[in-house]
Amino acid sequence: MEFTFLGGASEVGGSCTLLRVAGRCVLIDGGMRPAAREGQARIPDLALLDDNPPEALLITHAHIDHTGSLPLIASLYPHIPIYATESTRALTEILLRDSVRIMGQEGLKPDGETPLYNEEQVDALLGRIRPVGFHQVFAPIPTAPEIRVSYLPAGHILGAAMLYFVTPEGTLLHTGDISVTDQRTIRGLDIASLPGADVMICEGTYGNRAHSSRREEERKFAEAVQATVARNGRVLCPAFAVGRAQEIVLILKSYRASGYISPVPIYLDGMVRSVCAAYQGQSHDLHPHLQRYLKNARRPLFVDPDLHIFAVRSHERAALIARKEPAIIISSSGMLSGGASPLYGATIATREQDALLLTGYQDEESPGAALLRARPGMPLQIGSQRVPLACKVEKYNLSGHADAEQISQVVTKVGPRCLILVHGAPDALEALKQRFGEMRVEIPVVGSKLTFHAARQGLLTPASSRASISRAILPEAPLTAPELAFLDNTESMALPSIESLWLLARKLGPLRPWTVVELGQAYYGSAYRPALRPLIEQIFKSDTSAYFKRSRIGAQSIYQPCETVLGLSFSTTLPGEQLMGRGGGPTSLTLPQVPATELSRRIPGAGTVVIVQGQKNSAPYLALTLSPEHNGGIRMVADGWKAATRPLSMIQLLPDVQRPEWLHLPEESIKAHLKQWRHKLDRAWVDLFAWWRSCQRSSFSFTSLCRDLELRQADERLGWGLELLTHGLLLFRHHGEMWHPLDAARIYANGGFAHHLRLLEAGEGSAIEVNGRIGCLTGRSSWRLFEVRWDELLETEDEMDRLAQVRASTIHLLF
Ligand SMILES: [Zn+2]
Ligand SMILES: [Zn+2]
Repeated sequence: MEFTFLGGASEVGGSCTLLRVAGRCVLIDGGMRPAAREGQARIPDLALLDDNPPEALLITHAHIDHTGSLPLIASLYPHIPIYATESTRALTEILLRDSVRIMGQEGLKPDGETPLYNEEQVDALLGRIRPVGFHQVFAPIPTAPEIRVSYLPAGHILGAAMLYFVTPEGTLLHTGDISVTDQRTIRGLDIASLPGADVMICEGTYGNRAHSSRREEERKFAEAVQATVARNGRVLCPAFAVGRAQEIVLILKSYRASGYISPVPIYLDGMVRSVCAAYQGQSHDLHPHLQRYLKNARRPLFVDPDLHIFAVRSHERAALIARKEPAIIISSSGMLSGGASPLYGATIATREQDALLLTGYQDEESPGAALLRARPGMPLQIGSQRVPLACKVEKYNLSGHADAEQISQVVTKVGPRCLILVHGAPDALEALKQRFGEMRVEIPVVGSKLTFHAARQGLLTPASSRASISRAILPEAPLTAPELAFLDNTESMALPSIESLWLLARKLGPLRPWTVVELGQAYYGSAYRPALRPLIEQIFKSDTSAYFKRSRIGAQSIYQPCETVLGLSFSTTLPGEQLMGRGGGPTSLTLPQVPATELSRRIPGAGTVVIVQGQKNSAPYLALTLSPEHNGGIRMVADGWKAATRPLSMIQLLPDVQRPEWLHLPEESIKAHLKQWRHKLDRAWVDLFAWWRSCQRSSFSFTSLCRDLELRQADERLGWGLELLTHGLLLFRHHGEMWHPLDAARIYANGGFAHHLRLLEAGEGSAIEVNGRIGCLTGRSSWRLFEVRWDELLETEDEMDRLAQVRASTIHLLF
């Protein structure tokens, strides 16, 4: 896997990354630097694509720093497919049309730059975007089905996605821009549902910052608005048109409805208007609260004259600027660098009772940043006017980006072997890097290349066209012999000999049959990649009957190690024993230590309900065994797949539940029963944090957990078993049948976990607040949700709604 950073590396702006994998090229985003400095190019370095032309283009989200040069790229590569979510397509259209308009005006000025593209190129791009849904898996290059991608919700703004790649050279998560905190318009990204990945490219805009509580910041903002209105002043909120402006409208709307802010009119101007319309048009991606509001209240979300929220038409603007009555104006751009906000800003800045409230990132050289630095009475350049500053100027943090702690939670969950930090100022990315002491972290610059070798567990950074970086990074963790062998001989893939596979199988599981994947995992340890499977299969293509007895489970071949092989032996005294090669002297191979799996001792009979899992980190299933064990395999039907014979090693937990009566049913209806049951179990109130808290420092097995928690019901045991396999590895280390709680310091270092534990500590009946609503905890909770009983019902709700399931992260303890 090779990455070329054309833009957006060690900077915010011009995001554009080329991924080269399995000999194919995919381009991710094509942004612009909206605040390019003297001598700095506005667009990414597209010349770097000459040698590796992209075959597909993927767009993470609509912001101009990710889409601003797409019309140009699309016309350079007129035949490649382009993908984005439907919401991103809708928002990109608004932003690019505005960008063409601005470039057109700029081009008319004597010293203005020539436009980068025109309206026709924007049309051509938009017409080529193929909409993709979240979680849909697809091959972006139609002739390369081995490279698959899915879009995962990223929070941040409407339609924003992370890109998850599954390739023959490993997995990759490219975050784009992310937000963990729930916003009013959209939900934050769901950390618990993130997949693991070999490589992660992560944004670090706020890598050196900690956000204050969102709710608290919203309240302070509302307070400042009300203070201005109370002294008969006007409020101008310059806001990024996409995302931030919509948040501000909803915050003001809610505080005004509750009486906290006086009933003054709200005006929307600039691009904000059309973006608000697009948000409402893509309601399927909005926060569920808003979807419900649209359905129940049947009112518009943003512009709503009945509620005194107006869109300003351009001919009405001058009158509004001249009016001195209290009002709130929300207009783009957010940094006062263009659009309608400087027009209002120039008069509002001069009036003492007015206020200018900034809510987002201010580029150092923007008028917004100058405003924040300015003292009262100082002359200030706003738009085309130079005015003395008299109004109040304040800044509030309503960021749509994750802060340092949230980013580290995201990275911890994904657990990459290589982390690449982009989309941030160098000091922010450096600060972020310090949080991942053990991990290999790269901070590329624009123009550089990074290569990831799955087998080497590391990155090579060869000399690049612009920056002359050249260093080879070797793994820091101690390596096993096969991994070392790999390093010496990567090209020929250092395959195991049949002798070493036999010895390994004899040592780790002499009595059971092995699959090729299991042998590969045992031999290579953590260096094993799915790409190695066909190579190991190749070994078994020749006659290996002296070493393994071969049989089949369904379509899968399994290999039972023969008891003795002429001329081969090994000592069993030492953990890293030496293998005696057939040709005489000892080989230098050290066997990796592979923990034994749960099964082996107790083999379930037909009609038993078991919990199965393919690999660590994959989702666990509920299954019913259909036959007794045979040859290392057992016939099962699971909630997620049809009846099939699977290796015994898939069975992870035996919750002591029997359903022999189901054996008489058709297999399809057993599956339906299991599915239904699973659905019910997934909604059970099982809180692994509570268990972690209660078993400090003492290890347990699933059996002892069931005993200690007195889980008498089948449902309880199954619910806990599923949860243990789903989230257990985040709180416990797992070795064989035993689970060991992770260090408290490490758990509490995770802000989300610490918060969850505090809520548990507070316990049933504790008073809480969620987005302005007051209630109390009922004492029931699960991995993410707490049950809450509201003190009061909203107008649109009935008694049924008094109980709610609320995400832990949105709950604030009141005392
Ligand atoms: Zn963004
Ligand atoms: Zn961005």
